[in-house]
Amino acid sequence: MLSIIVDEPHSMAVRKRPVPHPAPGEIRLRVRYAGICGSDLHIFHGKNPFAAYPRVIGHEFVGDIDAVGAGVGQHRIGERVVVDPVISCGECHACRIGRRNVCSRLQVIGVHRDGGFSEYTCVPACNAYAVPAGLPAPGAAVIEPFAVAANITHRTGVLCEDIALIYGAGPIGLNLLQVLKRVHGIRAFITDHVDERLALARQCGADADEVINTSREAIEPALAKRGAASGPTLIYDAVCHPSILEEAVRIAAPAGRIGILGLSATPSAIPQQELTRKELTLYASRLNCGMFPTVIDWISRGLIDPGRIVTHRMDFRDVAEAFELAERNPSESCKILLDFGEAA
Ligand SMILES: [Zn+2]
Ligand SMILES: [Zn+2]
Repeated sequence: MLSIIVDEPHSMAVRKRPVPHPAPGEIRLRVRYAGICGSDLHIFHGKNPFAAYPRVIGHEFVGDIDAVGAGVGQHRIGERVVVDPVISCGECHACRIGRRNVCSRLQVIGVHRDGGFSEYTCVPACNAYAVPAGLPAPGAAVIEPFAVAANITHRTGVLCEDIALIYGAGPIGLNLLQVLKRVHGIRAFITDHVDERLALARQCGADADEVINTSREAIEPALAKRGAASGPTLIYDAVCHPSILEEAVRIAAPAGRIGILGLSATPSAIPQQELTRKELTLYASRLNCGMFPTVIDWISRGLIDPGRIVTHRMDFRDVAEAFELAERNPSESCKILLDFGEAA
């Protein structure tokens, strides 16, 4: 079989390896599609502090179970599944209080152990969830980044009177938008510098006056013009730049909540006064904590369409070109999927 391996930062190859055998409790997957995520690019560039090399990357993938290890029912062979990349110990404090995505011994598939950029891969059977009937495989590959969006909205909570602001119309921001608009039905503004991304936001459910191009309009007058002068009550930073958090703290309404997803090591200059005066709450969110069933339920009920953000499907052997496209210009692509083809 062929796998995409990052041998060390800036060095990636498509290489032949033996097909793995599922260990007890594992399933083997014939991967069909795998999504390229910003964190895959970070591992490639040596900017993910959690990654060890060499590594088969990829943590957003869908495929068909073709073998099972001891203790896993044979009936699962042939099942089309998506994989939750979070593997936790079940024993540490975080695990015991139901926060296993921040397990002290966390293993993320595609980061700490080999992932889905491979024709075949083995994962724990309990991490593999059946794809809803009728959902095409490309959309299923986007369930993982939807679980990331679902996790942060679960962390912040969403109230029917909330006015939300999402910074950044990339894959996570657009998925968040679908969750806020289509699952919760609230008013949700979304910002970006790229008109093509804001056009995608319209397709993901934003009203015409909810998209804000912040290269042309400053955020505060833009919100005031749209009837939200008192500030958003719920803010998500899907840009993950320290300056965004500073702005979010400044413009949030009193009693507002702010969700952050970034892994930047650069400090933010946030005045305590702003947090205390308005009694703001910051929620950090990492990966997802058991949100796959929630997302699959939303899809089954027709509330969200995960395929909306997919702009490209490319042969996995062209991964270098796909990475180049993902990084070159955000107006050209949003979610790029690697196509691993059908089983021979
Ligand atoms: Zn990701
Ligand atoms: Zn744990």
